[in-house]
Amino acid sequence: MFELKGFLEQQQAQDLYRTRRICEGKQAPEQVCDGKLMLSFCSNDYLGLAADPRIVKSLQQATEKYGVGSGAAHLINGHTSAHHSLEEELAEFTGRERVLLFSTGYMANLGVVSALLGRNDTVVADKLVHASLLDAAKLSGAKLLRFQHGDMDSFASRLDNNNDKKIIMTDGVFSMDGDIAPLPEIISQVDKNNSAILVDDAHGFGVLGEQGRGCVEYFNCNDDIDILVGTLGKAFGTFGAFVAGREELIETLIQSARSYVFTTAMPAAIAEATRTSLKILQQENDRREYLQSLIKQFRYGAEQLGLTLVNSPTPIQPIIVGSAEKAVAMSKGLAAQGIMVSAIRPPTVPNGTARLRITFSASHTEKQLASLLTALASIT
Ligand SMILES: *Cc1c(COP(=O)(O)O)cnc(C)c1O
Repeated sequence: MFELKGFLEQQQAQDLYRTRRICEGKQAPEQVCDGKLMLSFCSNDYLGLAADPRIVKSLQQATEKYGVGSGAAHLINGHTSAHHSLEEELAEFTGRERVLLFSTGYMANLGVVSALLGRNDTVVADKLVHASLLDAAKLSGAKLLRFQHGDMDSFASRLDNNNDKKIIMTDGVFSMDGDIAPLPEIISQVDKNNSAILVDDAHGFGVLGEQGRGCVEYFNCNDDIDILVGTLGKAFGTFGAFVAGREELIETLIQSARSYVFTTAMPAAIAEATRTSLKILQQENDRREYLQSLIKQFRYGAEQLGLTLVNSPTPIQPIIVGSAEKAVAMSKGLAAQGIMVSAIRPPTVPNGTARLRITFSASHTEKQLASLLTALASIT
């Protein structure tokens, strides 16, 4: 085989080398990783549902009924009444005509954009959108125009004199920054005749809005977003993703989204477990309220320490430190004290903006938050 060592050595030299920890047991703030008990602030399990006993029980019961594997794609014989009911319940939850389940959020984005656009079309995207949206734009072959993060003048300049058929795409909550896209401003600038707005709210569902309906509930702009993407592996605590929208959109995806058509359906038991998770996520508003109180306490404490925070009202609270080397050193300093926070480096984030990405979950205690602040104080 051809030579690979040069690339790996280069990654190492630049503090960009990626490795994995081996973790044991359930997703929870306290978890044994690489043989050591760690307190983690890096999970996307924002509501603490990933190991909720009620959801676990649903999964077990559904496995008895449906087995494990779904056996085939949705269009063959892999689409069960469990999947179908979850789609209907998510459609009601999102206030849409229809919902289509995908196996992952990455695949949902690839499928939607490449089904709707081709070489003569355009994608207009915030500079910091998730990698899966950029890959989706690439796969579709459409022209990709990016605007400065959250900057509505830059956005307007990308729309100027552009009559192409186009998708405007943004994260609802930005995955590495935690800030919320200015959806009302985006909506006000878009010509509905030739454009569709796609919002990927992977980090907003379950977290934002009284009933966890995400950034569209936060801004009360549900009717203006044409394509809403959600993932199930974050606040929902299970696995998979969905696209919500009009009847014709979903029917088009069933015909043409290749990452839907040419892949095995998610296990039915996962869909069944997610139905339980969806109920809990809507009903247990106290999880969202508690999470907000943790976020406020953290921001207050971090400001006392002189740390620079991002304007984020969500459980994603990055501390931007600049160089990859510094981010890695700080992450190691925290790990030495039993605290797990990921260092996020380029190319996940732009050069010079490496950061500690701290995330909170409704399953963190206030005492655990205090331990994090103490550890941060000791390394800054
Ligand atoms: C996590 C994430 C995805 C990918 O979802 P998966 O189900 O993990 O593949 C897509 N978009 C955004 C904004 C995400 O944060």
